[in-house]
Amino acid sequence: MLRLTELKLPLDHSPEALRQVVLDRLGISDADLLDLQVFRRGHDARKKNAIHLIYTLDVALRDEATVLRRFQGDAHVNPTPDMRYRFVGHAPAGETRRPLVIGAGPCGLLAALVLAQSGFRPIILERGKAVRERTKDTWGLWRRAELNPESNVQFGEGGAGTFSDGKLYSQIKDPQHHGRKVMEEFVKAGAPEEILYLSKPHIGTFRLVQMVEHMREEIERLGGEYRFSSRVTDLLVDIAPDGTRQMRGVALADGSVIESDHVVLAIGHSARDTFEVLRQRGVYMEAKPFSVGFRIEHPQRMINECRFGPFAGNKLLGAADYKLVHHGSDGRSVYSFCMCPGGTVVAAASEPGRVVTNGMSQYQRAERNANAAIVVGIEPERDYPGDVLAGVALQRRLEEAAFLAGGSNYHAPAQTVGDFLAGRPSTSLGEVVPSYKPGVTPTDLAAFMPDFVVRAIREALPAFDRQIRGFARPDAVLTGVETRTSSPVRIRRGADGQSLNTRGLFPAGEGAGYAGGILSAGVDGIKMAEAVARSMLGLGGEE
Ligand code: FAD
Repeated sequence: MLRLTELKLPLDHSPEALRQVVLDRLGISDADLLDLQVFRRGHDARKKNAIHLIYTLDVALRDEATVLRRFQGDAHVNPTPDMRYRFVGHAPAGETRRPLVIGAGPCGLLAALVLAQSGFRPIILERGKAVRERTKDTWGLWRRAELNPESNVQFGEGGAGTFSDGKLYSQIKDPQHHGRKVMEEFVKAGAPEEILYLSKPHIGTFRLVQMVEHMREEIERLGGEYRFSSRVTDLLVDIAPDGTRQMRGVALADGSVIESDHVVLAIGHSARDTFEVLRQRGVYMEAKPFSVGFRIEHPQRMINECRFGPFAGNKLLGAADYKLVHHGSDGRSVYSFCMCPGGTVVAAASEPGRVVTNGMSQYQRAERNANAAIVVGIEPERDYPGDVLAGVALQRRLEEAAFLAGGSNYHAPAQTVGDFLAGRPSTSLGEVVPSYKPGVTPTDLAAFMPDFVVRAIREALPAFDRQIRGFARPDAVLTGVETRTSSPVRIRRGADGQSLNTRGLFPAGEGAGYAGGILSAGVDGIKMAEAVARSMLGLGGEE
């Protein structure tokens, strides 16, 4: 097959137009075109009055070689790459060793699935509960202001992305097409097929819950085993006389021990107690940059109109998103993050006495507001120097201050953009009704955020308003705080996937600093499953 990229068609084109555009582009007759599949569909909305769909198509032709020769040097006509997934190997019959996977987020799930598909029968240790029970606990915080520290938006089957917008795109380099494997497994587990070809696919919360259950069934069918409410509280590391460190197993909160010399550590960015265990056990880690700020909410209609003009509301375009960056005068960048069109702001705390915001949506993205984090990049050397876990300490300080400012009842502190820019506390809100549950408390966000964050966001909002008219409208609402943008540490690994100083430990996913988002965490899980398989099979090779 041949892959044709950058084919442009009007938004309202007929189904036949797709075939015609291929015939015209390649200069071939209808009889020469044997098959046509859409590989990717996106849109170009830079000109609001002339929004186009942009296609990548795979075509089967009667004489591909001749056409390819004719288009030699044309970057948009190429052989379709082989994207099939290839396992690094399979467990030998009678293999009794079992790898452990700590964490059942997207990283751990994909690692466990690929290990199970390779015959390794992994044991998955998850501190939280199975996803249905977890859903009830998560709603407990949103509806009754009751936080369960082991079962919440961050912890439990499905990981941090379960109650989310389920955006499935990423800008990672993926030469081995692992992202395709993640998407195909998601579709097998019940995700809509369109995620395979939309340029910016999303799943929404309800479907994610079902998918996670289906993936569990498949892992168990292949011999894997889940243990919920099984928090890993210690790592058992053998230290040889020459100082070489080797994983021997893990201890759980109930006092039991599980032995294994291959452990995938996919704990996410919120497992602060587990980061502390890693530090105590001497696992090599570094502090890493992350970002802090607030969530902002606007009417979704305003974003649609600004982005799509007369095409706002078009079904193919869906609810509009945005991605904004401002390089501030003091050298710091302010950017939008995890934008959720037609969604809600969610309470995302995992520790008592702390408030954290994030965003989610349902598949239809039909809620009234658009929300996104507006965050400022911060760095260890400049903003939280010294201790490797100083970033965690900073996150905790800000989350505690937000809890207090919200009224010490898990309500989030909130402020209108107008008041925030004018430097006065909010005492009431305007037309934009904040969606955060259990509720918000109008206040002064600047009172507890570091000055440089406040200054940077005050500078950025008017700049963003020049790109999206109304972005800095006085009644847009900011809620706080947004602190869990990415992991505050990197648990470094070598080219073989193993911790730099602890053999048999495979740090993976967002918590280890190797992913940011559902798709990239899944890709990293596959890579680490391969690294484990290579090690268990005694094969060389690198991730
Ligand atoms: P996690 O998903 O964090 O999973 C880690 C798992 O490890 C958790 O289940 C946790 O309970 C478990 N664990 C931790 N410590 C231990 C321990 N000691 N013992 C046993 N188990 C342990 N990303 C997107 O790409 N698109 C989105 O739309 C999106 N929206 C989001 C919305 C919200 C509300 C949140 C919170 C996040 C969102 N994200 C989104 C980010 C995304 O969820 C994460 O990037 C992704 O889940 C990271 O995957 P992970 O497997 O590395 O870690």
